[in-house]
Amino acid sequence: MGDGPTILHADLDAFYASVEQLLDPSLRGKPIAVGGSGTGGVVLAASYEAKRFGVQGAMPGWRAKRLCPDLVFVGGHFGEYQRLADQVMSVLYDMTPHVERISIDEAFLDVAGSVHLFGPPATIAATIRERVRTEIGLPISVGAARTKHLAKIASQVAKPDGLVVVDPLHEREFLDPLPVALVWGVGPVTQEKLRQRGIHTIGQLAASSDTALQSQLGTSIGTKVFALAANDDERKVEGVRRAGSVGAQSAFGRRDPSPDLIRQVLGHLADRVAGRLRAKQRAGRTVTVRVRFSSRERGMRAVTRSRTSSDAVSTTLTLTEIAEQLVYAALGDHPDEAQISLLAISVSNLVDRPALQLELPVPSDGKASHGRASGVAGAAGPTADGPARAGSPTGAARWAVDTSMDAVRRRFGRAAVGYASTALSEHASVPEEFRELAEREL
Ligand SMILES: [Mg+2]
Repeated sequence: MGDGPTILHADLDAFYASVEQLLDPSLRGKPIAVGGSGTGGVVLAASYEAKRFGVQGAMPGWRAKRLCPDLVFVGGHFGEYQRLADQVMSVLYDMTPHVERISIDEAFLDVAGSVHLFGPPATIAATIRERVRTEIGLPISVGAARTKHLAKIASQVAKPDGLVVVDPLHEREFLDPLPVALVWGVGPVTQEKLRQRGIHTIGQLAASSDTALQSQLGTSIGTKVFALAANDDERKVEGVRRAGSVGAQSAFGRRDPSPDLIRQVLGHLADRVAGRLRAKQRAGRTVTVRVRFSSRERGMRAVTRSRTSSDAVSTTLTLTEIAEQLVYAALGDHPDEAQISLLAISVSNLVDRPALQLELPVPSDGKASHGRASGVAGAAGPTADGPARAGSPTGAARWAVDTSMDAVRRRFGRAAVGYASTALSEHASVPEEFRELAEREL
């Protein structure tokens, strides 16, 4: 981290909605929402014309329609979102290799090493905005600052379609009057707790020495939020990825391995693991599960099963399916064990994931197979049938569901959304596969 405002946060404005307006000029200037209008439908993105009426992402479709009766619901052109977002990212990569993509439509850049080539950070930010506007046709806001947190706040303040540079000599003046909601990690619940204590601005939060409040917010959130409000953020732009693995486990009392239990636990674990992979812009080729058997007579013993395939995984549903197959394989190999007390998933053999590379679904007949899956490279691979291929609506839909949930969770916390509440079932132009996914409960 240098002394200048060399960290940029670039964030496309109302991304899905802007793409829809780009594709269909008749939608320009109109309040539109991407998502579903009916029961269970959720707004994934709203155009600025709709935001003016209070329509927001993650809002139920019916409520959005009530706020804005002229609201037009449009279907998701997932392939186009991917294509255009990737084009935007390649503009960013033209400025520096130090790009950390954190979602489909936003990224951090560290341009400290690019200043001698392209000019000061403000000039680089302006160039990015100009190129994305003229070459791709989308509005993008950019914040430039000395830290990631300040840059992210600056891009939010810059919206819509703006540029804000935070002068390192005047960071406190910039932060103090802003609402606490702009602090990374402050969702509606935390906001309400702060409001109850009369804390509305980041300045008030930074000045508060309320240790009771800190513990009320929870140790990890509290510490983080207070540090950020105090303008303490050492995080670097992580353009270069590390090797390793990502895993999660869940221990429970001794239980019968019913399909419901397995599906529920693995769904939960896969959600965490895949979410972390996506946050790191990583995907993994090897999936390993651990099953701990637990019996009164023999005590506990754990077995692992793993599968390596040429397709790297990072979507929740695909990971769940692979893990299920592996767990059933382990159970099939140990018919003498009646009960289990722990399940774990880990993903290794990590690769940098082109952000929107599509995944292939796992053939569902694999679940019935109790054969050995350990270390069989490329085994149990996807079938070659049309809709299951890379680039298929299913792959795109899985990715779209996951990235939408990631976005909602970043704003509102993990509990805000799961597969059940992401339903877009009411919208006819949403692909069939998307509807199935959205309606599937984990
Ligand atoms: Mg955005």
